[in-house]
Amino acid sequence: MSYNGYITEQRIEGGDDGPLAGKTVAVKDNISTDGVVTTCGSAMLAEYEPPYDATVVERLLDAGAAIPGKTNMDEFGMGTTTETSAFGATENPTAPGHVPGGSSGGSAAVVAAGDADMALGTDTGGSVRCPAAFCGVVGIKPTYGLVSRYGLIAYANSLEQIGPLAPTVEEAAELLEVIAGPDENDATTRDAREQGATYEYAAAADGDVEGLEIGIPTELLDGADEGIVETFWDAIDDLESAGASYHEVSLPSLEHAVEAYYVIAMGEASSNLARFDGVRYGVSGGYEGNWNDSFARSRDEGFGEEVKRRVLLGTYALSAGYHDKYYRKAQDARAWIKQDFDEALDEADVLASPTMPVPPFELGESLEDPLKMYLADANTTPINLANLPAISVPAGETDDGLPVGMQFVGPAFGEEQIIRAGSALA
Ligand code: GLN
Repeated sequence: MSYNGYITEQRIEGGDDGPLAGKTVAVKDNISTDGVVTTCGSAMLAEYEPPYDATVVERLLDAGAAIPGKTNMDEFGMGTTTETSAFGATENPTAPGHVPGGSSGGSAAVVAAGDADMALGTDTGGSVRCPAAFCGVVGIKPTYGLVSRYGLIAYANSLEQIGPLAPTVEEAAELLEVIAGPDENDATTRDAREQGATYEYAAAADGDVEGLEIGIPTELLDGADEGIVETFWDAIDDLESAGASYHEVSLPSLEHAVEAYYVIAMGEASSNLARFDGVRYGVSGGYEGNWNDSFARSRDEGFGEEVKRRVLLGTYALSAGYHDKYYRKAQDARAWIKQDFDEALDEADVLASPTMPVPPFELGESLEDPLKMYLADANTTPINLANLPAISVPAGETDDGLPVGMQFVGPAFGEEQIIRAGSALA
């Protein structure tokens, strides 16, 4: 496959019937599949075969879906372009010559190219929504606790959720219905029914936005490219014609979201990735009389540059003496962001913004400049910090024909609201 969407193409058959019978659902390569290589896009795990299925994989197979393969991704989910994969970059099938977004770029690409009906990705700071926006498909980041993370190889546990990618809002919602719900193997899962929701997500994709009140956080438009902002307002006009109304709202805490996100994500990553030492997991560093040398060799060989950068920064931010200066401050910012969102959602049914402030980068463009890549996450990371649900739907194109995504954010366990709003556009 010329655009390099899959790391492993190996079909896993599902049950005979169920809501996804006859459908193919590609799975991001950080989600465990029993006996099928699961690499996380890393040389460290190039030959790792998990001994069990992730809960979401079990649910897919029980629902009758077949898994056509494991999709390419930024190494351990660390990236916004799918270029940090040890297995080569994925090209955007909708915008050749450009990145598909990341880190679930392979999942979005195989859906956009029609090589899978739907796909699962993971979203720690935007990794489902960004590639959905860049490839012109739909992606949902569920409320924290709606979908089990059991069998997901962790990057930053307190931020991430597994979420669906599909060509339409209705199909993404169908897939969400299959994977959502409590799991005794993941104590952070919640029963959405106890939060006033129904799990009837596909039925919510009815396009009915009569009376819907949309809040537009001005901070999420400020840094966006002109072509993106124009497309965004055209989409808001369409929603207004369909009976919705909108108001602008200021969330001053959002200015600190990217910084807070990267401190927290890198801190959690440095701790999670400690298990890859060539003894418990990962490529062997050999043994010549000193275990420290052995671990160092394993990690030097197994990890790529972006992963090393984050483990170093995360370890630094958590270390004694710096913990209060960085990690504690980031947690304070996180609490403030959550409070700002709660207040804004008291006055609105959903919030709307461009998913990404920029159109898809050209291949190679952002690799030189990690900061540029981190700043592209300005509109997606706040949602993970606040543990809220969000959807990205295609909103149109820039003048150069590049896809633009629109993001709707809902209250906790308000998936039905964002699905309804999104379905009015796509
Ligand atoms: N781009 C963000 C990061 O690199 C988000 C990644 C993700 O959601 N997995 O951390």
